[in-house]
Amino acid sequence: MKPAEHRAALLTKHQKLALIAPALAQVGISVELTEAFDTDALGTFSGETPRTQSPLDCAKTKAKLACEATGLAIGIGSEGSFGGGPAPGLLNWDDEVLCLFNKDKQQFIMAYASGPVPLSDLETDQLALIRSHLEQHDATQGWVVNCSTGLIKGLQGFEALHKALQHANVLSTSLQLTEVIRISPDLRAHFCPARQHYIQKAAVQLAERLSALCPVCQAADFWRKAHELGLPCSACSYPTQRVKYYIKRCDCCGHTEHEHPAEPYAEPAYCPLCNP
Ligand SMILES: [Zn+2]
Ligand SMILES: [Zn+2]
Repeated sequence: MKPAEHRAALLTKHQKLALIAPALAQVGISVELTEAFDTDALGTFSGETPRTQSPLDCAKTKAKLACEATGLAIGIGSEGSFGGGPAPGLLNWDDEVLCLFNKDKQQFIMAYASGPVPLSDLETDQLALIRSHLEQHDATQGWVVNCSTGLIKGLQGFEALHKALQHANVLSTSLQLTEVIRISPDLRAHFCPARQHYIQKAAVQLAERLSALCPVCQAADFWRKAHELGLPCSACSYPTQRVKYYIKRCDCCGHTEHEHPAEPYAEPAYCPLCNP
């Protein structure tokens, strides 16, 4: 590991430092936390504060605020969003974006990771159903209870939920509730192990992008920024919908290079002529 050469500020309330710092330490950046600005003012998952910016712009705003709040030259912002992915409405999908802002170079570097988050809501008045629902999920996953007395957030494990329900006065017997309540996953990073995994992955990509230097101007983030479809079919050469090449581009000097996939041809299974 290289010694830390640069200090960077991470703006977050939700304990993301431990997820992001190790990958960046590998490329000589030591990340420190700033809580000088309440990131929930930019929007919350549970919807008390609506998000007005796109997740990407939100991550950029956080990265810039981290610089301003600390006076450091590098700021990092993290933002997650749910609802996208290959099957919206059927599969809970998490898109995580990390943004590093270099104030001296006025450069933004974005890194991404995404994937499925198998979490679901439950509406019931039966304690046994709540217990079995929780047992189907990671034990450290947090939950939000929505009952007539309001929202209770950040409940990890059945014992914590049970206590909260007792406190909210919605237990009638040891097995039943006085009303139907809704429990939903708490999607804040410190209560969502699946998100933590994707944030770590995005941090690894950010470190790789920082090390990917433009061969012309040596700026960081010489990376795949676009692609061209049309990889020819191995049987008939017809262009398929597979990636023909990636376009690596430097945002500082505009230099581009094409990067071809390892396989020069696509399987006929992807060909609209051979496999219509
Ligand atoms: Zn360049
Ligand atoms: Zn073909």
